[in-house]
Amino acid sequence: RAAGSKRPDWLRVKLPIGPEYAKVRKLVDEHKLHTICESGNCPNMGECWGAGTATFMILGNICTRSCTFCAVATGRPNEYDTDEPRRVAEAIVLMKVKHAVLTSVNRDELKDRGAEIWYQTVRLIKEASPATTIETLIPDTKGNWEALERMISAGQEVVSHNMETVERLYRRVRPQARYERSLEQIRRTKEYGQRTKSGIMLGLGETNEEVFKAMDDLAINGLDVLTLGQYLQPTKMHHEVIEWIHPETFAMYKEEGLKRGLKYVESGPLVRSSYHAEKHVNV
Ligand code: SF4
Ligand code: SF4
Repeated sequence: RAAGSKRPDWLRVKLPIGPEYAKVRKLVDEHKLHTICESGNCPNMGECWGAGTATFMILGNICTRSCTFCAVATGRPNEYDTDEPRRVAEAIVLMKVKHAVLTSVNRDELKDRGAEIWYQTVRLIKEASPATTIETLIPDTKGNWEALERMISAGQEVVSHNMETVERLYRRVRPQARYERSLEQIRRTKEYGQRTKSGIMLGLGETNEEVFKAMDDLAINGLDVLTLGQYLQPTKMHHEVIEWIHPETFAMYKEEGLKRGLKYVESGPLVRSSYHAEKHVNV
């Protein structure tokens, strides 16, 4: 049932080159940082890095989970680097980042799920560069709501948590996650007073009705910003692309999402959760 590996025209993108890109890459390497842009092989690297923005991935580059769409390595993480928050903050100052997106692997083996490193990273960025706005794209804390509160209370402007797919596909796509638990995390984040954001990848075999249902569930649970983009297979070992979603369908979803009460919907083949993220601060 796979869609075939030939990408439609609307997904062909420019290569990530240019002097700004090279500069950012050097800084990231020098500070021993990880970016989801690189590990996810994101097609927007030319545009985002060229504009001096990047998504930093904290808490190492080995994840305790094994989502079938994700290029990050699964295993037992060995890294717990208490100096990482400082290096991230320093890189953000040197890169003159106006809007920073932070994300992390899942650290289910840690009692606090990595919340302390999350908290310190946001605090140190705000101290070093008060004008930089921050989106934290956090993992699910597996129902540890104390850890959630610590993660989201450091003064960031946006808290996102990606649903990734529709309920029926969770077992295949996010085997260690639970649809209801992720919704609850979003609801609690909203109740805490935060601006909430989530993302869903399309092309994994979901139906229109299932996407509408996910949008309803998100709206009821207090979601502000939703991003919808085409799933791309990082390697042949990962989940197949079942369907190439047409740009007109993305436009239809945007309208439907707004009708269903979401405040802002970013929807298009190349949309990633961190794409145009600077716009979501004022939603
Ligand atoms: Fe990185 Fe996100 Fe831009 Fe992709 S869309 S290059 S992951 S910041
Ligand atoms: Fe990738 Fe996040 Fe899933 Fe880990 S939890 S495998 S980093 S998508």
